[in-house]
Amino acid sequence: MRGKLVVGNWKMNGALATNAALLEAIAAGWSESTEPPGRAIAVCVPYPYLVQAQAALSLTRVAWGAQDVSEHAAGAYTGEVSAGMLLEFGCRYVIVGHSERRQFFCDADETVAAKAKAALAAGLVPIACVGETATERDAGTTETVVLRQLGAVLDAVGRDAARMVVAYEPVWAIGTGRTATPEQAQAVHATLRTRLAQAGAGDIALLYGGSVKADNAQALFAMRDIDGGLIGGASLKAREFLAIARA
Ligand code: PEP
Repeated sequence: MRGKLVVGNWKMNGALATNAALLEAIAAGWSESTEPPGRAIAVCVPYPYLVQAQAALSLTRVAWGAQDVSEHAAGAYTGEVSAGMLLEFGCRYVIVGHSERRQFFCDADETVAAKAKAALAAGLVPIACVGETATERDAGTTETVVLRQLGAVLDAVGRDAARMVVAYEPVWAIGTGRTATPEQAQAVHATLRTRLAQAGAGDIALLYGGSVKADNAQALFAMRDIDGGLIGGASLKAREFLAIARA
């Protein structure tokens, strides 16, 4: 059976004092949970807060991770953070290819693929994001775009694809309050699942992201090929995030 996973992406938000309260509330809420096994949650925090997440979550059922990683292992790459460094802070996950990285920091498909490969080589689980813009959807190229983005990662990681997570995040739904309908999301997930199965990774967790809230999570997560969510804004509120995780 495929595992269920809900991951919070804090983006560039947080402060030591508010993080402490948020992490404590999430950990307390999730440990009280009586959810069946096979359900997991994690938070992906800004780099400086990894040490805080590690201290707060080490003895809990909540995992943590980062929002990006260098494709390089070490060296003269000012400003970069390696997968090995993330591992030292207990990270399990790292997001690669988030649309904000692609859009504002010019992460190309090949770069995203190299980052996923570096993460896997270090023992991290990359959460590889794919998704089309509104223009691409309107042009009828959604499948072409997401399969190109996913294909680049699969070509780079080979059989290790079975150790990663993929998130479908339509760019037009991220932070906009506009969610894909469960049927729209399922259609893309089915396409991605078929491609993953061809690569021997048909059973990995396939997450949906894009304005997921407590009140729409259940309908999305009920779809056949949706195994959970990558949650932005709503992951900054413990009660909302936990409600999504329980959905
Ligand atoms: C995200 O940042 O990955 C995301 C899905 O954001 P939001 O939930 O705020 O749309």
